[in-house]
Amino acid sequence: MINLPLNVDFTGKVVVVTGAGGVLCGEMARAFAQAGAKVAALDLNEDAVKKLADECKAEGYVCEGYKANVLEIEALEAVHAQVLQDLGPCDILINGAGGNNPRATTDNEYQHEAKEGQKTFFDLEPSGVDFVFKLNFQGTLLPTQVFAKDMVDKQHGCILNISSMNAYIPLTKIPAYSGAKAAVSNFTQWLATHFAGSGIRCNAIAPGFLVSNQNRKLLFNEDGTPTPRTAKILAGTPMNRFVESDELLGGVFFLCDDKAASAITGVVLPIDAGFAAYSGV
Ligand code: NAD
Repeated sequence: MINLPLNVDFTGKVVVVTGAGGVLCGEMARAFAQAGAKVAALDLNEDAVKKLADECKAEGYVCEGYKANVLEIEALEAVHAQVLQDLGPCDILINGAGGNNPRATTDNEYQHEAKEGQKTFFDLEPSGVDFVFKLNFQGTLLPTQVFAKDMVDKQHGCILNISSMNAYIPLTKIPAYSGAKAAVSNFTQWLATHFAGSGIRCNAIAPGFLVSNQNRKLLFNEDGTPTPRTAKILAGTPMNRFVESDELLGGVFFLCDDKAASAITGVVLPIDAGFAAYSGV
């Protein structure tokens, strides 16, 4: 049971969430189900979305899990047909599947500090860069092609993309992920414009720094003290702290609520404890 940040009623709305097997979008899927929505949880990781759906159903909410690769249009169309049959046409699409890849990440922050044996900018693998651009950009575009058709039919709907802090100013070490999320922010504005006359709003959130299982070891030493990277992040964050995953939900609900955000389309909302607002000086 999530302590919901806003009292928004999504009863009867069909909410499709990609990447729902993961940490952030799993929590979003749960929150929508708890707020009355009929949730379709999509992920490559079928076990994770089936487990999520079982847990939601056990609490009396409506959620179905579907195995789906956001990069395969035919598979997405098959899932779409199943969602139509199980839950109905899509009202809200959360494009959550995304992420980085080590093959597209440098070991060093600056070339002049590169040491023997480190993976530098010159060692980045084209296949890794391709993977990251595809997952984040095409992984947003293809599900939108499939599920926004329902919204065009109804002349009503909402799309929410997941961008990132690195879309505003790139973070060191991760050029492909930064560029791909910048593309997601840009595409959010493109979709907002393209679908404005069809009754569909499209926005994004840009989460700041969260502590997750994937990055915990980069951020904290074994004795719990912060690593130098954490010190840098916090020094660049006016609120001097990380963002908690449940702090994304207020922005997500607000942007997806037709009443509260009725005239809001094409925005990328930072949820970052002030990181994007601070110049560092
Ligand atoms: P996560 O790794 O926990 O979840 C991502 C999910 O996407 C996983 O369940 C994975 O199986 C799924 N996935 C990967 N490739 C897929 C594909 N081709 N088709 C379908 N599903 C696929 O990540 P998270 O931290 O929950 O991140 C969710 C979103 O938020 C991502 O877009 C990420 O880039 C973004 N984001 C995360 C952070 C953070 O600090 N965690 C910050 C900013 C933005």
